Amino acid sequence: MLIYCPVCSGVLGTEEGPYSLRFACKTCPYVRNITKKLTARRYPKLKEVDDVLGGAEAWKNVDNTDATCPKCQHDRAYFMQIQTRSADEPMTTFYKCCNMKCSHRWKD
Ligand SMILES: [Zn+2]
Ligand SMILES: [Zn+2]
Repeated sequence: MLIYCPVCSGVLGTEEGPYSLRFACKTCPYVRNITKKLTARRYPKLKEVDDVLGGAEAWKNVDNTDATCPKCQHDRAYFMQIQTRSADEPMTTFYKCCNMKCSHRWKD
């Protein structure tokens, strides 16, 4: 797919910008940052991880541990460790309250 410059109607190429890839016109100074979809996929936001963990399936057969629910003070919670970012960052631990009426989820 070719993308055309809105200024001079030339064909835009891509180049490495200071923050992300960007479109750059070869014939005039027009540049446009490419929206962050590329990086968003490599570094999922915690919100998205929460959604993944929201399904009942995700919490089947996980271990539970001594952890106090911040909502109902129940003292057992299921827990899961997930690598949310790059491999050299520590795992994030997610908890889900064992109290079925509460089922509050939180993370370390
Ligand atoms: Zn141009
Ligand atoms: Zn709870």
